[in-house]
Amino acid sequence: MPADPDTIAAIATARGRAALAIIRVSGPQAHALVNERFRGDDLTSVASHTAHVGYVVDAEGEALDQVVTTVFQGPRSATGEDVVEVSCHGGDLAPQLVLDALLEAGARMAEPGEFTERAFLNGKLDLAQAEAVADLIHASSEQAHRVSMQHLRGRYSDRLSNLREELLDLCALMELEIDFSEEDVEFADRERLTTLLDTAQRLVSTLLDSYRTGELLRDGVRVVIGGRPNAGKSTLLNALVGRDRAIVSATPGTTRDEIEAEAELDGLLFRFVDTAGLRDTSNQIEAEGVRRAEASIREADVLLYVYDQQRGLDDDEHTFLQELSDAEPSVPTVVVANKSDTVDTERTPDLNVGRTLSFSALDAFDDADELDRLTTALLDQVDADLRDTEASAVVMNKRHRQHLQEAQTALERAQTAYEQGVSSDLLTLDLREALHALGAITGEVTNEDVLGQIFSQFCIGK
Ligand code: GDP
Repeated sequence: MPADPDTIAAIATARGRAALAIIRVSGPQAHALVNERFRGDDLTSVASHTAHVGYVVDAEGEALDQVVTTVFQGPRSATGEDVVEVSCHGGDLAPQLVLDALLEAGARMAEPGEFTERAFLNGKLDLAQAEAVADLIHASSEQAHRVSMQHLRGRYSDRLSNLREELLDLCALMELEIDFSEEDVEFADRERLTTLLDTAQRLVSTLLDSYRTGELLRDGVRVVIGGRPNAGKSTLLNALVGRDRAIVSATPGTTRDEIEAEAELDGLLFRFVDTAGLRDTSNQIEAEGVRRAEASIREADVLLYVYDQQRGLDDDEHTFLQELSDAEPSVPTVVVANKSDTVDTERTPDLNVGRTLSFSALDAFDDADELDRLTTALLDQVDADLRDTEASAVVMNKRHRQHLQEAQTALERAQTAYEQGVSSDLLTLDLREALHALGAITGEVTNEDVLGQIFSQFCIGK
């Protein structure tokens, strides 16, 4: 960061109709610059962490909006610099006029993520915490929010930093031995080395194993709904998402293309995809739909296969489901024997796939227990513990996974080297590599390109 960085400004709140909006200003000139366009207290001489009511004016002194400015003095601020937050009226115009006035007064429009980048560079948060800010904003379920919040609070970073410190300490002692190699001394306790290598490998693999859970929490559980036309797929989808998202019709083949809908059920995000149905047809559009449905099914986290209990499953469906079950890896499947309300005796087929559930999509509209039964069955098929995993041990970020894999490889090499009695200098090279990989996650070691890439994915004003 340059010695005297620009003072940056941006609207931090979402556009559109709202009671209020916030404009953030950060940098060495923040106080003076806002003060130039503010009619109220002298913001250059007020105490830190105080709020002041007044007007923002244009170059001619014409009032643009009545606002509340909150003044923070660096380093006790979100970015570590001098900061002013201007709360103005929301809507499309007021925030833009206020921002324009501040840009005219000398502020520069902030780049995406620049506030968070400055917070990172000023040591207000580490890189994993900065990334958690973005995850928190994008979290669309209670559980994803829970994990991002733990990461933001630094619990996850602490785990990595503690391990890194211990490894660093040990590595330094071993390097000292190299300096004294002629005297044949051992500063680093070999028992401690064994324990530490073991602990490090265990933590790294626990974190790596959690990535599947993290991915499902972040992106949602993708459930593809398949089945013959008229089986009740659209009805089921509507019951799940709680609104008329899919078109329900008694004419077979109405839901031609894929319909995707999201729902938060029991604190988790689900993405439901309703397919065009699976059947042989000479109709071109339908045939394309069928082809795509099959592709979607193979990409699903869970397949929810629906059929009409009155009709039963035909041979083709049996074969199809059996093939999915026999596939490597098999597609986790929940078979819904639908329209249970229309039959006297509920019958579920004898199938060697996932789970079969006798169900009524129609009843599920006003029966929460019926829906719960279904979501539980879906979650049982997903190979991850989405609810009870310790949030600080869940990796949700691809970049982190990559560095963890690097750390794992280096630690495994160190372990082998140690077991083979390889000399300390070679062993420390592997340890250093593991340290580097772990440090890259929290940003203890980093480079500008990586930072630029991470922060540019943020929204402006963050
Ligand atoms: P899709 O073609 O598989 O999407 O099927 P739809 O959802 O359009 O449903 C076809 C017909 O079956 C509609 O008339 C629905 O009202 C009806 N239906 C769907 N689920 C049930 C159910 O659980 N019970 C009864 N009785 N009818 C249902």
